[in-house]
Amino acid sequence: MVESFNRVEISRSALRHNLAVCRALAGPDCAIVAMVKADAYGHGMVECARILAEEGVVRFGVAEAVEGVRLRQAGIRGEILVLAGTLPETVGAMAEHDLTPVVTDSSMLAAISRQAEETGREIGVQLKVDAGMGRLGCLAGEMEEAVRTISELPGIALRGILAHFPMADDPESENSARVRERFDAMVWRVRHLLPPDLCLHIANSGGLFYGAGTGLDCVRPGIALYGCPPDGGLHAAGREPTGLRPVMRFVSRVIQVRRVPAGTGLGYGHIFTTRRPTTIAILPVGYEDGYLRSLSNRSCVLIRGQRVPVIGRISMNLTMIDVTGIDGVRPGEEAVLLGRQGDGEITADELAAWMGTISYEVLCLLGNLNRRVFVE
Ligand SMILES: *Cc1c(COP(=O)(O)O)cnc(C)c1O
Repeated sequence: MVESFNRVEISRSALRHNLAVCRALAGPDCAIVAMVKADAYGHGMVECARILAEEGVVRFGVAEAVEGVRLRQAGIRGEILVLAGTLPETVGAMAEHDLTPVVTDSSMLAAISRQAEETGREIGVQLKVDAGMGRLGCLAGEMEEAVRTISELPGIALRGILAHFPMADDPESENSARVRERFDAMVWRVRHLLPPDLCLHIANSGGLFYGAGTGLDCVRPGIALYGCPPDGGLHAAGREPTGLRPVMRFVSRVIQVRRVPAGTGLGYGHIFTTRRPTTIAILPVGYEDGYLRSLSNRSCVLIRGQRVPVIGRISMNLTMIDVTGIDGVRPGEEAVLLGRQGDGEITADELAAWMGTISYEVLCLLGNLNRRVFVE
């Protein structure tokens, strides 16, 4: 079988390790809701959910119902939270596949209740409140009505209440503590209406690692499971190392090695001209594969564990690197664009800084555009 030269490698053992790190931080009485939306941030939703389920994870978070259906069809059991909204046309699938809709107000409750009555099966829902995120959710003043409606309608049960932090990636920010206080107060105000076994949660990875979201029933790590520090690595100095291990590597291959004289303009636009005789290796990777054009003349890759610069314009399928300092580079050799090789490492945060974005986007782009291979 012929495969693409480029591959994304996903380390099962690193994913398991990061789950253990998250569990240790969460403590024994706090469950993990593994966030596997966006195809597990590019790592492969079904495969990652299977690995996590083997480790005992029984709660998963996705954005849309269609992802939850895929998980069920792959045999994933337990609770699957559908976080990014419910519209009437997905209510049937939610009931059929026992997915847990996250509702944000009273508007969908009647439709959910009707569906539950029709299928003769109770539908559990969770309520998302806006405790300061300012995005999806209901405000404090709307919460009581939503909770009441859920308790009054037949076939529908409130299983949890959740909120989300807007600045949990910044460990220095006071914001998370304030949002947490507001969340606790919102829940307290409706406590007389709540069922006893309710699940409360607010923490993403940052809320878990920097403490503002711990001490509730669940935490919802995403980026930490995939091995990136929740703060983008920006506040590493003076902090305990996170102990997380990157799960993804992105590997390409050299397809040609050329020696060109000084003064040679390279590639589209000649945005790089050699100043000395230069050995160039060409990689069959480009913006089509998520290695964005904004990395032109800017990023580095690893070859034999050594960092070498990307030179010239990244095109749709080709990238040039300067391997002048390295002897005997040949076609077929591996070049690592993300992850470790020998003693070298390029982190998702580093690649993200070169691209002008965050690790999350790097992982989604590379992971969801390339062939994935699972390794130990
Ligand atoms: C994506 C998401 C998370 C996970 O966030 P990370 O920063 O990746 O840990 C948690 N909660 C909600 C509501 C999300 O959408």
